[in-house]
Amino acid sequence: MKNKEKLNKQKPEKKKRLPVGRTIANTVFALKQVWHVSHSYFIIYFVNTILYAPLNFLSSTYLLSVIVDGVKNNKPVEGIAAFIAFIAVWSIGMELFSGVYWSIISPGNQDKVANYVRIKLSQKAASADLSCYETPSFFDKYVKAMDEANDRIYRVMGSVDNLIWRVTYISLSSFLLFTIDPWLILFMLFPLLMGIFRRMERKLGHEYITSQKPINRKQDYVRRTFYQSDYSKEMRIGNMYVRMLRVYRDSFYEFRDLTRKYGFKTAILSYLQNFGLEVVTIVGALTYAVYKTVVLKELTIGDCIIVLNAVGGVSYNLNNLLQNIAEFGEHALYIDDMRYFLDYEPKIKEDEKAPKANGGDIVVDNVTFRYEGAEKDTLKGVSMRIRKGEKIALVGLNGSGKTTLVKMLLRFYDPKSGSISLDGKDIKEYRLSSYRESYSCVFQDFHMFSLPVVENVTLRKRREGDEELVENALKESGGYDKIMSLENGVNTTLTKEFDENGANLSVGEQQKVSLARIFADDSPFIILDEPSSALDPIAEHKMFENMMRASEGRSVIFISHRLSSAVSADRIYLMDDGVIAEEGTHSELMKKNGKYANMFCLQAKNYVGKEAEA
Ligand code: ADP
Repeated sequence: MKNKEKLNKQKPEKKKRLPVGRTIANTVFALKQVWHVSHSYFIIYFVNTILYAPLNFLSSTYLLSVIVDGVKNNKPVEGIAAFIAFIAVWSIGMELFSGVYWSIISPGNQDKVANYVRIKLSQKAASADLSCYETPSFFDKYVKAMDEANDRIYRVMGSVDNLIWRVTYISLSSFLLFTIDPWLILFMLFPLLMGIFRRMERKLGHEYITSQKPINRKQDYVRRTFYQSDYSKEMRIGNMYVRMLRVYRDSFYEFRDLTRKYGFKTAILSYLQNFGLEVVTIVGALTYAVYKTVVLKELTIGDCIIVLNAVGGVSYNLNNLLQNIAEFGEHALYIDDMRYFLDYEPKIKEDEKAPKANGGDIVVDNVTFRYEGAEKDTLKGVSMRIRKGEKIALVGLNGSGKTTLVKMLLRFYDPKSGSISLDGKDIKEYRLSSYRESYSCVFQDFHMFSLPVVENVTLRKRREGDEELVENALKESGGYDKIMSLENGVNTTLTKEFDENGANLSVGEQQKVSLARIFADDSPFIILDEPSSALDPIAEHKMFENMMRASEGRSVIFISHRLSSAVSADRIYLMDDGVIAEEGTHSELMKKNGKYANMFCLQAKNYVGKEAEA
């Protein structure tokens, strides 16, 4: 099944327990990440475990049995003393080792592992198909995987560590009990039956956390509307902040309902486990041992003391072992989310062996496209040719499919049918990164990063010579005077989020910075999607003049509402409900006296009207 389909079909609330094979595979996956980050850390961790594992048994139950045996059989006291000294040296050595391990070795490595996983997740997110961003479960999975990256892998290591030393303790103690009376083992096995309740409890826990994610996402969203400047104006007019607070408050009720739903069930399951363990195992085994000693006289007092000591230890560890095993089930569910995300293969992906793109004519041939979940096609058999160096204007009413066509050109989506080719070759055959690099784009919903202006323009880490390049580009886009008036010029950080000396620019100023992107490189294609919506008509006119001059030899595809900017285009395509309704030069289309001419006259009238009013 395709990953995307899986993303959609999965209902997190109903997530099932994973099969044992998958649980083991996920545990191995987690351990492999640690091994990958640091072999030495991995080895030290488990050497510590293996050295520590028998100590618990030797220093408690076995030591007692050595003493009882020594007293019963009149053994020399030196032998017992030597054994005690041996255990003491071992314990002290382990304590010293653990001290160094927990305070020095572990913390740094734990962070390294978390970072390694987080970086891998971020890289995956960056390569995910754009369509994933339209799927809410994609965000939930991503957020969950990121949250878990902090310590889940480390917790898997902890569980493996516990498993090793508990199994060691239980095996050795059970063997000792078995030599005293084999029937005692039956009591020890009872807690295994309680495992069923424990698994149910763990599964509920995972469901509970998974169900919280969409509510968390909602709350995060509301919090953002309160502090992000994007929302600041709308939040102050009308009653939006009251509305948002209500969404926030409702989400608290949702949390409360969830807690009620899961809390009661969890409490019952927990009670059943404790009852089984404490009443049946411990009290049962002790009664049996005392009966055999006092009534039947089949056990010696010494054996009875060892049984009393061992039963508690074995039961306690068996109980924890079951919890421990159930933990693997829980870890596996979370690791599965992480792996699911990491294993996600984008449909549109990089092929490093594919040839690089080098410009040329673009031919859009009968392209049809439908968004996932949409009921009808957004593009219906669109065809066009963009010749090298040509300036193309895409015009049409809102929702007619202009931006969608641009997204197809950039290969954010692939067509349902038809094809797009560059220089005679289907664009799917080019190396994706190189193909996309052949475009300079400015989108209507452009975003500034909290980074210096220079990096916001080049959209890459600063290289030598970038400052001059960006200053020149800003001159062309009209943003130069504003940016150079700032104390640090092109080195000014945008927004004050991380830098109190940063600059908050107006939307128009930001648009000029983003427009500088097209002047700062010489990629063969320029895409401008409503690039001048926040510019005044004079700034827009100037920007277009500059763009036409600076883009000589480069193909330009621009979408604009203001048809006045389409006049100078070599070719105009008018889109209407997903089809190219008209195409030609401005004068051809005016002569045709169709939809374009109609729209143009209407807009012109508006302008003239406004001027007259003024
Ligand atoms: P334009 O750029 O001409 O305003 P768009 O290409 O943005 O038009 O949108 C064309 C149609 O596709 C619209 O009806 C819009 O609602 C729909 N659409 C755009 N993006 C998506 C999406 N991600 N999922 C579903 N439908 C979408």
